[in-house]
Amino acid sequence: MNLILLGPPGAGKGTQAQYLIEKYGIPQISTGDMLRAAVKDGTPMGLKAKACMDSGNLVPDEVVIGIVRERLQKDDCSQGFILDGFPRTVPQADALSETLQQLNKKIDAAIALTVDIEALVERLAGRRTCSACGAGYHLLYDPPRESGVCTKCGATLIQRDDDKEETVRNRMQVYAQQTLPLVEYYINVGILHEIAGMDSIETVRSNIEAALRNNP
Ligand code: ADP
Ligand code: ADP
Ligand code: ZN
Repeated sequence: MNLILLGPPGAGKGTQAQYLIEKYGIPQISTGDMLRAAVKDGTPMGLKAKACMDSGNLVPDEVVIGIVRERLQKDDCSQGFILDGFPRTVPQADALSETLQQLNKKIDAAIALTVDIEALVERLAGRRTCSACGAGYHLLYDPPRESGVCTKCGATLIQRDDDKEETVRNRMQVYAQQTLPLVEYYINVGILHEIAGMDSIETVRSNIEAALRNNP
């Protein structure tokens, strides 16, 4: 199963990807996680990406297209993959489709999580991320067992710099301008499933599973 998760920052893409990884045994490809790792390691790509990420703008298409193209060719993608946070622009979607064609693959379904923009600031303000394994939590909606500590691996939880309110507002605008057109794009491809993202984490999970069960 080859999947795309679409939705604004805070919609629940990463949270739902965690379940899909387990259910289908396929890897999550999160461009945000890969870019943050490059920033942390101080690679040339990380240095280039950092300023864009700090301001809440997108990293240039050719950078992310390059990392996704490379990642899709790894062996662990042979049974499927979950794209989380990619594509985010029409040129990225076009490049994805071209790459998949070359690899003799295609996207089976694109899941768009629809949410109230107003709720997203609160979701992102309460988001905490594991500094070691990347697992996501929410102070109110999905708290770790012990405050400030990752339930999965025991490392310290941190707040992402770009989850501060000023940056979040810009990320929402960037989403509306550059990424929202992809909903229409995948409707036209005929593979879009819109799922209400404001329900509880569990309900969203079962609605996604139901949509994928009925996916042609
Ligand atoms: P969220 O999960 O909150 O939507 P991500 O972790 O996906 O955020 O992305 C964080 C930042 O990384 C983005 O604001 C952007 O700067 C950069 N980024 C991630 N994916 C892409 C992409 N596909 N194209 C361009 N920039 C990206
Ligand atoms: P994205 O990857 O789309 O940016 P995340 O999956 O990281 O979003 O979710 C953003 C925050 O909202 C996290 O703190 C997460 O625990 C929380 N969250 C995710 N889905 C829900 C939901 N359905 N209801 C309430 N909180 C949620
Ligand atoms: Zn952890």
